[in-house]
Amino acid sequence: MIMEEKHISVLGSTGSIGTQTLEIARAYEHIKIRALSARSNIRLLEAQAREFSPELVCVTDEDRAAELKIKLADTPIKVVSGRGGLIEAACIDGADTVVTAVVGISGLEPTIEAIKAKKNIALANKETLVTGGHIVTKLARGNNVTILPVDSEHSAIFQSLQGCRNNREIKRILLTASGGPFFGKKRDELRNITPQDALKHPNWDMGAKVTIDSSTLVNKGLEVIEARWLFGTKNIKVLVHRQSVVHSMVEFTDNAVIAQLGAPDMRLPIQYALTYPARLPMKGNELDLLKYSPLTFEEPDTDTFFALTLAFDALKAGGIMPTVFNSADEAAVELFMRGKIPYLGISEAIAKAMSKIQNIENPSLEDILETDKAAREFVFCMQ
Ligand code: NDP
Ligand code: MG
Repeated sequence: MIMEEKHISVLGSTGSIGTQTLEIARAYEHIKIRALSARSNIRLLEAQAREFSPELVCVTDEDRAAELKIKLADTPIKVVSGRGGLIEAACIDGADTVVTAVVGISGLEPTIEAIKAKKNIALANKETLVTGGHIVTKLARGNNVTILPVDSEHSAIFQSLQGCRNNREIKRILLTASGGPFFGKKRDELRNITPQDALKHPNWDMGAKVTIDSSTLVNKGLEVIEARWLFGTKNIKVLVHRQSVVHSMVEFTDNAVIAQLGAPDMRLPIQYALTYPARLPMKGNELDLLKYSPLTFEEPDTDTFFALTLAFDALKAGGIMPTVFNSADEAAVELFMRGKIPYLGISEAIAKAMSKIQNIENPSLEDILETDKAAREFVFCMQ
């Protein structure tokens, strides 16, 4: 099959989503790489640059960028740095789609600029919609660009909605959660959890931040808010599904429930975002339902994993609260990883930040960035 060429910029190409995106580009010649970016891992970025020959690479860390510039001096590849460089990578001429696979709120501004430059977005960076959903979705409509979800749950919902002609036919979204490594445990049993314990996810191999967030159910909370912006409904129910095979479902007004199933493998939602509406063959990892049987569903334990309730509170409050939820978590996860706060301190820090920081309705980008700083400072000063 001859496919139309697709030109992409990958922000965060050295991470878990980024490297899997490049695996797909390696398998499909029609996917061309125009720009790549990393924060500091120049060893891998250099190898990627030599393999895929983009026009531009960005290293946000300035010193590392200078080192890479010397290493790539024998190539025509332009090396840029910092926040401005990341925006340059997001807006590069000739790319039609930007894969946003950086971690945290750092994805927000480059995504906004990419949309202004009329790029479609293959969105992995959920923090973008959590913090700036109202700005980003409006801009995307205004610029006639598409936001295609990469997150497995949102891709599943998007796939389940193919054929739905009117979003008013959606009754609710059933968002599945693996439950993480501490499923079944109570608060008392989580007091002495170490970063090493929390970094072991039962079903998915992901970056450190999202793995910790999966264990606290903060990740599910972020996904609830992400789903609200992608699919235009706040009617979202979280179901714990330990096997991570049903990636999420949509319940329609006539009570039909449509789900997307697959083996736990991020390459499928990444590939679908890059080839939509086409489906292309994928090697390996077929779903053997007998291997995963029985498929089970249960209520999340929101007493132990209370961050999920905080996320629903943030969703309900709207305005700046989802940013407070997100940024307090980013700071708290950093402190936990450095051994400065206990595991349960992550969710406690989010709760405290949400109760102390005043809400702002319809926040501007400046409000979001200022609140991001304020929430981080609040959490860093708490210890
Ligand atoms: P990783 O930590 O594996 O990779 C992050 C990438 O972004 C790396 O290339 C890293 O560079 C770069 N990066 C990190 N911090 C910054 C920063 N402040 N500024 C610029 N670049 C930065 O993350 P994941 O791939 O796991 O996750 C990426 C995003 O996708 C997250 O938003 C996550 O929630 C979402 N996601 C991830 C899933 C997964 O399976 N991993 C599933 C669904 C969503 P360097 O390597 O140099 O540090
Ligand atoms: Mg997910």
